[in-house]
Amino acid sequence: MISGMNLVAGKWEDNSNAEIFQTRNPNTDLLLPEEFQQSTTDQVNRSVSAASDSFEFFAHTSFKNRILFLKTIQEELLLAQSEITATYQQESALPEGRANGEFQRTLDQIQCFVELLEEGSFIDASIHTQGPDLRKMLYPIGPIVVFGASNFPLAFSTAGGDTISAFAAGCPVLVKAHPYHAGTSERVAVAINKAIEKCKLPSGIFSHLGGQSHSVGSQLVSHSLIKGVGFTGSFSGGKALYDLAQKREEPIPVFAEMGSINPIFILENKLKTDSNLAEGLAQSVILGTGQFCTNPGIIVVCDPSDSVDFAKEVSDAIEGAELPPMVHKNIQKQYDKQLRKINEGEQVDALFFAKSCKAAVGLVQASKFLTDSSLADEVFGPFTLVVKCKSNDEMLKVAASMEGQLTTTILGENSDQEVSKKLLSKLQSKVGRILFQGVPTGVAVTQPMQHGGPYPASTDSRFSSVGTDSIYRWLRPVAFQDCPNELLPDALKNENPLGLERKIDGRIISSAL
Ligand code: NAP
Repeated sequence: MISGMNLVAGKWEDNSNAEIFQTRNPNTDLLLPEEFQQSTTDQVNRSVSAASDSFEFFAHTSFKNRILFLKTIQEELLLAQSEITATYQQESALPEGRANGEFQRTLDQIQCFVELLEEGSFIDASIHTQGPDLRKMLYPIGPIVVFGASNFPLAFSTAGGDTISAFAAGCPVLVKAHPYHAGTSERVAVAINKAIEKCKLPSGIFSHLGGQSHSVGSQLVSHSLIKGVGFTGSFSGGKALYDLAQKREEPIPVFAEMGSINPIFILENKLKTDSNLAEGLAQSVILGTGQFCTNPGIIVVCDPSDSVDFAKEVSDAIEGAELPPMVHKNIQKQYDKQLRKINEGEQVDALFFAKSCKAAVGLVQASKFLTDSSLADEVFGPFTLVVKCKSNDEMLKVAASMEGQLTTTILGENSDQEVSKKLLSKLQSKVGRILFQGVPTGVAVTQPMQHGGPYPASTDSRFSSVGTDSIYRWLRPVAFQDCPNELLPDALKNENPLGLERKIDGRIISSAL
């Protein structure tokens, strides 16, 4: 059963005076029956205080105990899988296959952090024995606020990568549930809370707070005991929260992943020779009804002889597709509004609408694209804009005009290598991940994954919000100088009780000192 209550440090609190909100089934556009209570300022304050009080204990828990905690979350999620995925589908209209896929991805992400803790070297222990005895390692930064993402009710929400990486680091987490899937979020929060109880961890390490006005999120980010923020969503939301955090008396890091148009560059010879390109890209554009931050929003083609009607090829490939509705009517409204603006204006040279679904493909000459920066705005949904270049130089100018992106893709033949090299050189300073085949949708959870790019794609391009490296958002270095061995953390003790690989006087060594 979904209670609609808020979880304040281990206790589900019923507040009969709370403002109420409901979620909506995007398939029927009807409100779902459960009533959710907006959390109060008092609940926010008590949750943050409890998180802060539990921090010192949690920060010093052993890797072994954190592994047990993460594994118990996996077990509790599995026990509730059918309820979680049923609510997920009701609240998002995303199909069963996606629900199960995202559920599994959520478990797999947790597993990645289990393995990271088992191996342990992420703690980055280093020891310098010449001169003063200096030893350094990473230490958690404190209570973190995580904002659930509307487009990933599981993998980027309550037990998603932000929460799990923060737990693995030793940071308490306060989740601001996304109001579009508050029921899914609550079910997942129940599983996390049970894991906390079973592992006998302090209840303050997790609170789950609901609300559909910006006030709950703003209060959390503004609270002086909060030390970091993880966010995936709109540019306006991410930037507002970032600004709020910088205005605090103590500014804190906000790791906001705010979207991207993920330009695909198709070089001249590739365009001429690969007849499967349009089909593959079309599938990526409409995947998940286009609700991915890695959706290919711009396809830049180099076609000096004007021999390929690539926009038509992509739109033909999309024709006939049937897509589920977007996860919320507000997101659909925003998509429709942006397409209407493009259709009514004179910005693009052509706009193809699919008859079977809401997908659309635009076409614009590069010369026009280069004079109108609004054409590079993200259209969140199943839309892509084909930008046609008359030369390699024009393509390089388009690349140079791009703002920070999560990804870019360079598709070329061997014979395109010279221009590939120039493109790569320009794009490397603008993106987080560069692909040379395939499509950008699909973000593997591995250590070398980079999900985050220069502003405005993210607020801090030095970090990733996907993959095990995402843990570094929640850690900071602490050095110990001439500290007695008994007082050192285990990771830095002479006898190396954790068996870690450590950098000792510049060499990686796993034996005792
Ligand atoms: P959003 O408006 O950015 O909201 C995400 C979360 O941030 C919500 O929990 C919201 O809380 C909170 N929030 C937003 N602005 C805030 C502010 N000024 N102060 C405090 N809290 C704030 O994103 P959305 O609702 O998921 O979708 C809206 C649009 O975001 C989409 O149409 C799409 O363009 C974009 N989007 C991008 C991505 C991506 O991958 N980067 C993912 C999803 C959506 P409340 O709702 O409680 O106010």
